[in-house]
Amino acid sequence: MIKTHNLGFPRIGSHRQLKFALESYWKGNSNEADLQQLAETLRQTHWQLQSDLDLLPVGDFSFYDHVLDTSALVGNLPSRSDSAASSLDRYFQVARGQSHASSHCQHVAAGEMTKWFDTNYHYIVPEFDAETSFELHAENLIAQIEQAKRQHKNIKPVILGPVSYLWLGKAKDNSDKLLLLDDLVVVYEQLLIKLAEYDVEWVQVDEPILVTELDAKWQQAFKQAYFLLNKSPVKLLLTSYFGELKENLHLACELPVAGLHIDSINAFSEINQVVDWLPAHKILSLGVINGRNIWKTDLNATLDWLEPLQARLKDRLWLAPSCSLLHVPVDLASEEALDPEIKSWLAYAVQKLAELNILATALNAGRVQVAVQLRDNALAIDSRKQSDRVHKSAVQTRISNLDINISERQNPYEKRAKLQQQRFNLPLFPTTTIGSFPQTAEIRQARKQFRLGEINAEHYETFIRDQIKFSITEQEAIGLDVLVHGEAERNDMVEYFGQQLEGYVFSQFGWVQSYGSRCVKPPIIYGDIFRSKSMTVETAVYAQSLSKRPVKGMLTGPVTMLNWSFVRDDQPRSATCLQLALAIRDEVVDLEQAGIDIIQIDEAALREGLPLRRAQWQDYLNWAVRSFKISANGVRDETQIHTHMCYSEFNDIIAAIADMDADVITIETSRSDMELLDVFNEFAYPYEIGPGVYDIHSPNIPTVDQIVNLMDKAAERVPAERLWVNPDCGLKTRAWAEVKPALAAMVTASQILREKAQFS
Ligand code: GLN
Ligand code: ZN
Repeated sequence: MIKTHNLGFPRIGSHRQLKFALESYWKGNSNEADLQQLAETLRQTHWQLQSDLDLLPVGDFSFYDHVLDTSALVGNLPSRSDSAASSLDRYFQVARGQSHASSHCQHVAAGEMTKWFDTNYHYIVPEFDAETSFELHAENLIAQIEQAKRQHKNIKPVILGPVSYLWLGKAKDNSDKLLLLDDLVVVYEQLLIKLAEYDVEWVQVDEPILVTELDAKWQQAFKQAYFLLNKSPVKLLLTSYFGELKENLHLACELPVAGLHIDSINAFSEINQVVDWLPAHKILSLGVINGRNIWKTDLNATLDWLEPLQARLKDRLWLAPSCSLLHVPVDLASEEALDPEIKSWLAYAVQKLAELNILATALNAGRVQVAVQLRDNALAIDSRKQSDRVHKSAVQTRISNLDINISERQNPYEKRAKLQQQRFNLPLFPTTTIGSFPQTAEIRQARKQFRLGEINAEHYETFIRDQIKFSITEQEAIGLDVLVHGEAERNDMVEYFGQQLEGYVFSQFGWVQSYGSRCVKPPIIYGDIFRSKSMTVETAVYAQSLSKRPVKGMLTGPVTMLNWSFVRDDQPRSATCLQLALAIRDEVVDLEQAGIDIIQIDEAALREGLPLRRAQWQDYLNWAVRSFKISANGVRDETQIHTHMCYSEFNDIIAAIADMDADVITIETSRSDMELLDVFNEFAYPYEIGPGVYDIHSPNIPTVDQIVNLMDKAAERVPAERLWVNPDCGLKTRAWAEVKPALAAMVTASQILREKAQFS
């Protein structure tokens, strides 16, 4: 019989119960017992929802992040956390700098947080140094196992494997992390022995780094670790996901474990090779349901390729989702407002597990046993394929007739720069901001009232206009050179545009965890994208009418729209991105025509779309950059295009950034003391650049001296004539009381810089 299992279930709860419980605990409104009780209830509910599976995951639940859980498990929480605090409070201190808002709670430096592979989930980076030692602290995992066993017999603990754990961490003293491997593996051996005492047969050991480019040392680390774990009294399911194994394929097949899981969505082309290479005593678990998107699986098509494999593998074949379902929302049944036709094309975690069950039944008992379900699935798949809500011939025609030069400006940058200089006549070190101003309680309240129908459109419009007027007045008083309207009408830079474009839908409960208690609800791109009417022109024109200084038009770029949405899976991402690019282009051209002379197109998320393997970077960058250029470059030479990115780890993609051909770019740099601009020493970046001088993630107000200092450092790397002075990012999370003095300091700093430049 084919077995089914799950790699992990979303922890947050169908209605974000965990988020609210955590935040209440952190505020001091509930105690640890309340929080543990809620966690227990959530886990129980989640196991109940998974009870059709042959093996239920245990240990996939987390109060913040499973990598941080692993640090706790192996006794590697940084020592700066308060040793007198409870283990849960120490854990939260590392996660977020403090456990409780109260003043007696110790504040420590939070652990660094970074993206989990190519997902939008973030983990707390483990910290190592040459002295790091490990010690097993399995209490938390064991408690979950005990809870699960009270309800279910068939459990499978999930742990992050030792090699990936080391790889994901950082050696603070630059020592060689791999020297810690043997000690770490000892703790894993102890853990596996302990798990065997709980009658555990299988343990899922996640080693997702198997899908990345590993050098010989790390490949060797796998052999070393799993050779040692080979004596373990439980069976190990070595688990990879998110991509192809490629050069690690033989290694993954040959490590001495009892089974291997591969992501058959992303490594489809490798399945046969893996079947050939996998020793005959091993289980092969195929991740056949996409754990990264929200679309129904084509079950009949999946069975078509699974049946021959089943004939070869027999009982050695297991089925699972491709990766943990952490990356999808919990239950589609919660969505009561979603368009029913589109809803019929979707599957959240609960629905994905039901699909798994249908596949397994079809394989074990024959397709006839699930004929009805298979027929319904075929109807849904077919309806999506044929729907004229998905396929718009006007969009297709436009794309097939695209002019090959559509991505190019009329003239090269040097020529444009002169025209723009004459036109805007900006001083040296011009000052600007990134777009948003504080989203005050008043603004959020008005938006909510409008959404609930408590105030009418006219009332709301007037309110927004007043906000715009206020922000323009403030900016003029502060003395900024290039203004923004402040984005009071937007709650989110992707959703705002998605709601106005065709081809997008919005869910009510499509939450996925981004980090800790923070969740995002990515909009869903289901069909061909186009813009049926202008989105920002009226607002931009109004804002510009209030000032003689240029007010930037403000848009979100196509790559960011793509990377922060759930994207349709029936065409390449690049094709969807191109459609987005054309829609934004239409808006850019309309803005220019309406008299907006400077247009900023944010590409906050361009970098995070980079594929896991470097070998695939260039292909992504090619289409991403081309999409940006198509969106931006329909304008005259005199129109100035800005872009903004929320990071400045540019070194490895600087050439692509330059290829974007944007006249001005603003980036985040203040925390790095401008060192991140070092790349400009080697790379002759020809465009203007605004390195952030105000850390908008902190309530601290930068002083004039600090800003002058930072800009002096920037000027060592980029010619002064090409520098702008601006914050790191938008100011929406800050308060006016901080923003005003901070921007005033920027303006004063820029005056000092101008004077200094005159005399040098
Ligand atoms: N224009 C947006 C803002 O200022 C940019 C936000 C971002 O880059 N994340 O809020
Ligand atoms: Zn930003």
